Amino acid sequence: MISIEDYIRDIQDFPKMGVVFKDITPLLANHLAIERCLELLLEKVGDEKIDKVVGIESRGFFFGMLLAQKLNAGFVPIRKPGKLPYETHKEPYLLEYGMDVLEMHEDAIKKGERILIHDDVLATGGTARAACNLVKKCGGEIVQCNFIMQIDFLCGNEKLKSYDVASVLNY
Ligand code: AMP
Repeated sequence: MISIEDYIRDIQDFPKMGVVFKDITPLLANHLAIERCLELLLEKVGDEKIDKVVGIESRGFFFGMLLAQKLNAGFVPIRKPGKLPYETHKEPYLLEYGMDVLEMHEDAIKKGERILIHDDVLATGGTARAACNLVKKCGGEIVQCNFIMQIDFLCGNEKLKSYDVASVLNY
């Protein structure tokens, strides 16, 4: 049986000193690891009906699309500013130093649609919370926020308290 941990590579001090970057490219490079990771993410979703999977730029797009296809759902990208061509909702969020903004097309989600939010890593939770706020602006119902991995000591799930949070791996 494939162990997903074996396909996550730790890169010390990337993109800056003190950060251990969780690199998923070895996982993306192996079709059995992709299949196993997708299976585990789908187990987290269970029998919930999902209308749209929302993937967060950029590493949330890979498994976000695969999840959408398996769940018979649509896919919605959340992107950094200036990347989406149509009218967008915008949500600022706090970074370690300064602010950033995430955007989602205004018409991407209809009121009452059941949403799965997906990203590769849950760290401090600021990114995922901004994504939740964008979904709420459109009236979407957040069924789950799921991640390949969660960095526990950064307590990201504190920022997502009102949601179901699930991760395949905990560090
Ligand atoms: P945060 O808002 O702190 O939860 O950060 C989550 C976002 O930053 C996700 O989109 C991740 O892809 C990325 N990220 C944060 N920390 C790491 C890490 N240690 N390794 C890889 N990606 C990370």
